[in-house]
Order: sequence, then C-alpha cells, then structure tokens
Amino acid sequence: MKITRLETIPVSIPIHPRRAIRGGRGAHTVSPFLLVKVHTDEGIIGLGEVSCTPGWSGEDQVTAAHMVQTYLAPLLIGENPTDVERLTAKMRAAVANNPFTKSAIEMALWDILGKSVELPVYRLLGGPVREYVPTKFSVSGQPPEQAAEIAAWAVEQGFRTMKVKVGIEPNGDVARVRAVREAVGPDVRLGVDANGGWSPRVAVQTIRRLAEYGIYFAEQPVAPVDVAWLADVRRQVQVPVMADESVYTLQDAMAVVRADAADVLSVYVGKGGGIGPARKVAAVAEAAGLTCTVGSNLEMGVASAAMIHLALATPGIGAEDFPCDILSPFFYEDDFLAEPLPIKAGEARAPERPGLGVELDDDKVRFYSRQTV
Ligand SMILES: [Mg+2]
Repeated sequence: MKITRLETIPVSIPIHPRRAIRGGRGAHTVSPFLLVKVHTDEGIIGLGEVSCTPGWSGEDQVTAAHMVQTYLAPLLIGENPTDVERLTAKMRAAVANNPFTKSAIEMALWDILGKSVELPVYRLLGGPVREYVPTKFSVSGQPPEQAAEIAAWAVEQGFRTMKVKVGIEPNGDVARVRAVREAVGPDVRLGVDANGGWSPRVAVQTIRRLAEYGIYFAEQPVAPVDVAWLADVRRQVQVPVMADESVYTLQDAMAVVRADAADVLSVYVGKGGGIGPARKVAAVAEAAGLTCTVGSNLEMGVASAAMIHLALATPGIGAEDFPCDILSPFFYEDDFLAEPLPIKAGEARAPERPGLGVELDDDKVRFYSRQTV
C-alpha cells in the first residue's frame, strides 16, 4: 500500500454559548480545525484532525494546511502508510514543532493501519487496559454564579469529577471554586486548571486558600516558561500538581521528572505529535512513579477517537484517579461525524470498528468548512 495524496479541509465548529471556555488564556467560543485525509492506492483513507489553537501551539488552519501540503505531503507520498513509527520519525526530523499538525497525520496512519488489518487502534496498541475511559467535566472561568450553574448541570448529566478554570484573578478564582463546591456538594471530585495564569507566589497562596474547598489537583498553576517555577510551587503546596502546557515533548516530560516539578502529566495526542509520542510521555511518567491524564483542546470527533484509543490502551495513563478531558459532545452544538462517539458523562468508549472507528458526515463537513473564524 502507498500514500497517494493528502487532502486538507478547514472546518470551524461553534461552542455551545453557555459553555464557552474562559480561562487564563482568554475566551474560546468557536473552534477551528483542519481535517486531514490521507489517501492510499488501495482506496483506504486515513482520517486526522488538527486542533488549531494558536495560543497553545502557534498553529492555525492556514499554517497547518501549509505545513501538510508544502513539507509533509512530499515526504509521505509513495510511502507505506502502515510504517507508522518510521514515518512519525521522518516527519519529526523534517519539520520542527507543529505537533498538532503532525499528530493529525500520525492518527490518520494508525487509522489506515487499523482499517487494513480490520482492528480498532486500541488493539494495535496492545489491547485495552481498562473497560472504558473515565472522563471529567471542565467548568469555564465564568463569574461564580454561572460557573456554579454549569457545574450543577454537569452533575445532572452524570459527571462525578470536574475541574474549574482558574488563573484569571485570585479572589475571583477562589469565589468561583467556592461557588462550584457549594453547587456540586462534597462528593464530586474537584480540580483546578490555571492554564499558567498565576505567578509562582500567587499560585502558592491561592492553592492554599483553595484547600478549604477540597481540590484534589492543581493543573499548570504557573506559565510553562521555566520548569523551576512549577517545581517551586509543588514544593510549597500539599495538592498534587499537574503539568499540561509544560509537557509537549518526551524531553519536556523528562525535564519535569528531573526537576520534581509535577505529580501528574497531562498528555495529548496533539502536543507530542501523535498517539505514539503520547504513549512515550506516559511511559516516562510511569518510569518516574508519576501518573498521567489525557488533556484536551476541545477536539472534535476524529481526534477525540484517537484520545480514547490512547487512554484505553496505555497503562501509564491513570484515568481512574485523574479522569480524562474527553468531552466534546458536552461543548459543541454539532459534530461532523456520521455517527457520534460512544461518549457519556464520566465515561468514553472506543467505537468497535477498524482504525479510529469514525466516519465523516460529508454534508456537515461541507457546511462547517464554509464557516469562517
Ligand atoms: Mg490544561
């Protein structure tokens, strides 16, 4: 089998207005994506999806399409798409950074491999280590009353774990977490995600204040500029610290481990450039006695499927203790999949079909490719 061409389709999906994300990195109301189709001479098409969030990775729909067509497609055309590991290394060697763009192609290669041998991706990764992937909800950085309302709604949907966006302003952050705790009661597990919005000093002070509301992790309390900042906070608080924006690559994971900077790593299919790289980050965590969760840029159906396969088959991801952020059906008004993923509040399952197990609804893809951001 040979790769014949790569097709890219920009799409933009509106977020349900009441659940639009506001956090330490600003507001997020529409999500732009780049869909990638990897075509082969045997008629199998692999699907991939780039989350285009410039504030995260510097990638958008235009840069992603440009990198795919100008640099990555010429490397891949004529190659055997089932050589996933070799082609991943080839992309890494040829183009620096752009991990979310590369991850779309990498997940499409897994999709092709799975379709060619008629196995779901999680089987290719060694089979399931859990029956389903525990998931949590994410409460946006709204004023306390709205945040409490959203959190109560999430509990009604069935969520038992959630995180609250903080890192905006310390007093407002504390008021929001207090309101959410009051709304959800004592039995819901609550974490906070500051998206790097606090300084080290404010992080320590605020996390100590939040202890009263029973938070059980603090995600990326400080900016990812220096891993010493994260380590500094971790030394001074009791709550487990989770590294998200600080960990993109395998080497980032190693640096966090060496600096004793985190208890939990948030792995993404996108940040490391694919499912394979994400599993390596999880292995570093496992070797260091840490654990991982799967974090999110509010991916749509194709990348969400990749996240589920990853979490289902990766022992270094401690999804039972730190449920994953696989929650697009709770945020978007629509999806571009022909059939929705089996995602419920608190649990995500993989489709039992070959490859990633998802198909596009071409009419919806056409419709959302006309929306502009
Ligand atoms: Mg995060």
